[in-house]
This record gives sequence, C-alpha cells and structure tokens, in this order.
Amino acid sequence: MLLEVEGLCVNYGHIEAIRDISFGVEEGTIATLIGANGAGKTTTLKTLSGLRKVRAGTVKFEGKDITALPPYERVKLGISQSPEGRGIFPGMTVTENLDMGAYVRTDRKSAAYREDVERVFTLFPRMEERRTQVAGTMSGGEQQMLAIGRALMARPRLLLLDEPSMGLAPMLIQQIFGIITEINQQGTTVLLVEQNAAQALKRAHTAHILETGEIVRSGTGAELAGDDSVKAAYLGGDV
Ligand code: ATP
Repeated sequence: MLLEVEGLCVNYGHIEAIRDISFGVEEGTIATLIGANGAGKTTTLKTLSGLRKVRAGTVKFEGKDITALPPYERVKLGISQSPEGRGIFPGMTVTENLDMGAYVRTDRKSAAYREDVERVFTLFPRMEERRTQVAGTMSGGEQQMLAIGRALMARPRLLLLDEPSMGLAPMLIQQIFGIITEINQQGTTVLLVEQNAAQALKRAHTAHILETGEIVRSGTGAELAGDDSVKAAYLGGDV
C-alpha cells in the first residue's frame, strides 16, 4: 500500500469530524472518498496533507509513519494536494503559479523541470495559451485545471484532489475526470474526494462512502456504482 490510514480521528474542538476511519490506497490506483456535505471529506484530505492534527490514529506513506510530519515534509515525500475552492494565487500568472507548485524542488533550472511544465501544458493546453495571464482573471474551470497542474509540479507520487468537479459545467466535468484518469495512467496514484459520486465511482478502482465522519461502505468503484442503496442515496437512482 502506498498510503495506509488506520483508526484516524480528527476533531474541531468538541466536534468529531472524522471518527475512526481506516483505508488504504494501492500504488498506481485511483481511490475515491464520496459523501454528502459535511461528511468529512475535506477534513480527511487536509489531515493527509498535514494541515490538521489527528486526535488518534496513524497515517503511513510507503510504510513510514508520517502522522506527525509537517505539510512541506509530506510534499517532499511525494504527497501533493489540489485544494477545494482551487486555492491558486490569484495575483500571479499561470507560469508563476506552476513555479509555486514546485517550491520543494531544487532542480528548477533542469531539463526535467521544463519537461514537467510541458507535461502540464500537454494535459491542459489552455494553460499554455494562458501562460502569462493573471490567474485570478481566469474562469472557474481554468483555475481548477491550474490548481491540478500546480499540484503536479511537485512530481507527486500521491495526488490528493478535493472536489475537482465543484462548480463546473457538465462538459468540463467530463474533461476534468478524463484528465484525472490520464494522470493516473501516467503513473500517479490519486486519492479523489468528490460529491459527484457517479463520475468518481466510474473512474475509481476503490471507493469508500463517508457519512458523518465514518466509512460506512467500501468496495470497487463498479461494485458501489451498481449497489441499489448507493444508487438511491448518491446517484439519484440512475446510473
Ligand atoms: P463539503 O462537501 O461540504 O465540503 P466535507 O465532506 O468536505 O463537506 P468537512 O469540510 O470535512 O466535510 O467537514 C466535516 C465536519 O467538520 C462538518 O460537520 C463541518 O461542519 C466540521 N468542520 C469543518 N471545518 C471546521 C472548522 N474549521 N471548525 C469547526 N468545524 C468544522
């Protein structure tokens, strides 16, 4: 397992946002956590990035206990997050935002670095067209793509994506999920947190349903997508 989460509990004061969750992410796969508003999806990802402290439990990356590591040390190990609500630097250009994503790297003058910028531009041709545009003036979908591109600039082994489809038009949602699958096929392991359960289950190798801070169901994406109670609760009865 690339990532192993065991008995994780996270609180905000007295509120138990995450209660005793355990799951693993196999190297090379897409795993997804789906759930309604307030289920604890963002809290889980923030905890994996090192932005929230755990009350109990452990997080292991490649077998190493990283529960107490600060965020930048996790980025160095290969864990990179594209946050909910995009979180790009609005006053900087597209290129400057991509450079910020690579802040832990020491090879910014190298050919490998330029190749990674090219890789982001190949995945997101719109970013290349807009390389000198100030990020805050881009559309919501473009900002979402930039946020994912920026996370890729750290060369992650594990990419954490918080609701990449949020607020996007249906066509753009298809496109973003297609790109996520492509990123995975190029060798990056992905943990995807989503309210768009239909798309997430379609793309994911493994899936977990989070309800009020607890994992209530786990299976392959296809198993959960085909399950009647999952369909009724998360897929609007269709799919
Ligand atoms: P959404 O899809 O709406 O973003 P989510 O599944 O990502 O929801 P979280 O944002 O992780 O859910 O929230 C989990 C629980 O923790 C919720 O009950 C929420 O109100 C609470 N919570 C989140 N952030 C804070 C905070 N800073 N202070 C207090 N409670 C918080």
